[in-house]
Amino acid sequence: MQRIFLLFLLITSLFSQSQTDLSYYLPQNIEYNPSIPTPKSVIGHHVGEWHITHDKLVEYMKALANASNRITIEDRGKTFEDRPLLLLTITSPKNHQNLKAIQSAHIEATETNSANLENRPIVVYQGFSIHGNEPSGSNAALLAAYYLAAAEGSEIDNLLEHSVILLDPSLNPDGLQRFAYWANSNKNINLNPDPNDREYSEVWPGGRTNHYWFDMNRDWLPVQLPESRARIETFHNWLPNILTDHHEMGTNASFFFQPGIPSRTHPLTPQLNQDLTKGIATYHAKALDKIGSLYYSEESFDDFYYGKGSTFPDINGGIGILFEQASSRGHVQESENGLLTFPFTIKNQFTAVLSTLAAANGMRKDILEYQHNFFKDARNEASKEGKKAIIFGDEKDAAKTYHLAEILKRHRIDFHELKSDFSKDGKKYKKGYSYVVPKNQKNTRLINAMFETRTAFKDSLFYDISAWTFPLAFNLDYTETTMANAGNSVKNLQQLSGGVSSKSEYAYLFEWNEYYSPKLLNAILKKGLRAKVAVKQFKSNGKAYDYGTIMIPAKNQNLSATEIYTFLNDKAQESHIKVDAVSTGLNEGIDLGSRNFKALELPKIALLVGDGITSYDAGEIWHLFDTRYDIIATKLDTKTMKRADLSRYNTIIMVNSSGLSEGNTKKLQSWIKDGGTLVAYKNALKWLNSKKLMTIDFKKNKLIAKNINYEQRSDFRGAQVIGGAIFEAELDRSHPINFGYKNDKLPMFRNSTLFINEDKNSYNNPIQYTKKPLLSGYISEENLDSIRKTVPLKINRVGRGKVIGFTDNTNFRAFWYGTNKLLMNAIFFREEM
Ligand SMILES: [Zn+2]
Repeated sequence: MQRIFLLFLLITSLFSQSQTDLSYYLPQNIEYNPSIPTPKSVIGHHVGEWHITHDKLVEYMKALANASNRITIEDRGKTFEDRPLLLLTITSPKNHQNLKAIQSAHIEATETNSANLENRPIVVYQGFSIHGNEPSGSNAALLAAYYLAAAEGSEIDNLLEHSVILLDPSLNPDGLQRFAYWANSNKNINLNPDPNDREYSEVWPGGRTNHYWFDMNRDWLPVQLPESRARIETFHNWLPNILTDHHEMGTNASFFFQPGIPSRTHPLTPQLNQDLTKGIATYHAKALDKIGSLYYSEESFDDFYYGKGSTFPDINGGIGILFEQASSRGHVQESENGLLTFPFTIKNQFTAVLSTLAAANGMRKDILEYQHNFFKDARNEASKEGKKAIIFGDEKDAAKTYHLAEILKRHRIDFHELKSDFSKDGKKYKKGYSYVVPKNQKNTRLINAMFETRTAFKDSLFYDISAWTFPLAFNLDYTETTMANAGNSVKNLQQLSGGVSSKSEYAYLFEWNEYYSPKLLNAILKKGLRAKVAVKQFKSNGKAYDYGTIMIPAKNQNLSATEIYTFLNDKAQESHIKVDAVSTGLNEGIDLGSRNFKALELPKIALLVGDGITSYDAGEIWHLFDTRYDIIATKLDTKTMKRADLSRYNTIIMVNSSGLSEGNTKKLQSWIKDGGTLVAYKNALKWLNSKKLMTIDFKKNKLIAKNINYEQRSDFRGAQVIGGAIFEAELDRSHPINFGYKNDKLPMFRNSTLFINEDKNSYNNPIQYTKKPLLSGYISEENLDSIRKTVPLKINRVGRGKVIGFTDNTNFRAFWYGTNKLLMNAIFFREEM
């Protein structure tokens, strides 16, 4: 018994007990206030002994805030899984008494040409583990909060007097909880560092993402997720001078801090931002040298896409800093650098928290001055714009317009109503369906970053997407105009109020252009009401109705005419759709009884998820259906597909995927032949082609390296990657896949190099890239040559069913509103293609 116990002690003490005591992490030359609760006294274990679960993290932070007059805590909202989004504000007790005034003075310095920088505290936002399975950050947040509450002496007093620290202990509570459950439930008493142990490889989809499997570290600019909304509100309330974002990377790496690769910094970011980042880096280096930890900077990662946490501040007068720690994933893992323990990863993160604060304090005046000048320079640039403005809108889709305006609101960008309807370049801008954004305003640089297109670049490699032009993502008309067209500034943004014009005994019509029209149609079909789609244009009562108009007859339904009216009116209001009551079937063009109105059937959808399927792409569709359209789709796991009765579904969606097992392939094939519709994306098309479930003529791109040496080989290959850019396609609007689009051009997002040759019959190419398709972003010359006139959509009949295949992601990251309708059309109008 005793021997076993001794052995146990020996193994665990190798890399556990001695490392998890507070003395392993904290500076030892100072006193700690004994009245402040230690993490262990609240959470029940040492930091690093177990992975902190989010509920315990919350418990500890609340206990700290209770015990310390340096800390206040606020709950800023809820994640999708109802977890609180906490923020700790940490500063000296004296500053706390004066916090509102400190905040006002801080913001005022970004709005006036002279400001007193002398005695103002610097504002530092420290955020942790936005990727839930990169847990050392949130575990280090326990130590950071404890240290800031409990440390005593002149050094901490000086620090707290001169800084306001916004500590966000978990940027992704749902992901952190999911990962902690995984790592803890697979932990051995006798820690096992073998990388093959189950502890180190999570099951699909892993804890990186949030509830709907989004990478939240891409959402700082689009702000589509509740976690981002809370965070961005704090950001704009405070305009932090420094924002840090603590991550993890591969197990064999060391520790990374920014600057990233200098040539890949976004050109709208001032050089001084990068210089100061480098200055701050010297503090990290010094602190990591002191504890003997290896690190690097400037060789990887970049500051290009403003939707990342470490880059977003750079266009808002702050300095964003990325930290990447080699990950132990579980509790200890073998690595090229020896045994990598979880406590060691936490210690490095904690060290970087303190070195950031030391830098903020040491460089305080320079950094405050930088922010002051950033906004002063921006004001100068803005005033040169004079009365210039950007107008954006869609005369037939108020909802999409509203949702872009909502993003501007979240970023404190001022915009105005349109004074009166206005036309330019053949596009109509309608009041209530368009907004005017003055360029002469505080956040003019952010406006540029959101609206500009860019096709020339210093570098040909990107860590993430190279383009995100918002009006293109939303497929909105936009152009430059002047403030002469502007009405009142919009203070209270409202969505279009929907409803039915009046009760009808004959029929109802609504057009398909509005973003939420699929939500309304789905509700109608789900209620068991009959509805039809017009496959031709017509005029009723003098009003023109476009392709895709939905007609609901008032008679021969399972509800009375009054019940239909009440139901439709409710649902139209919920969906922000205007529905017209009509009293005659006689039209100009097709009449309401025409065969060119096709009966619609409720989609019964299975969305393939699980091993072999890209979780991001599947999550985007799950989120789209569940949160925007109220469409219920079954998340069908590839592992249970074998025993599932597929005849329950008329539509299956397969996003980017490496393919299915032989058994599942056969099952899918016979389901399609029996009349099912498979909607497939990206690499799933390659797989379908190889299994002869589709016939696709892929364009081959032969690439031979000439005059490229060995060292340059990965840059050469990297330059052929389309990390994410925007391309123009031409639409055949009479094809059901394009119903609801008013323009014959559509900007499409693409991050793949799959090119499909056009069909010899032009009617089989309803979506086709134009001759000069690049709208914004990076693409190599070779690929640009390849993409011209290819098609991103292919439809194949298979037996009685069909496969509808897209090479491009139409639902990218919840903010590509402009192409969501392509998927909706594939689902609702599948029988007409
Ligand atoms: Zn990460």
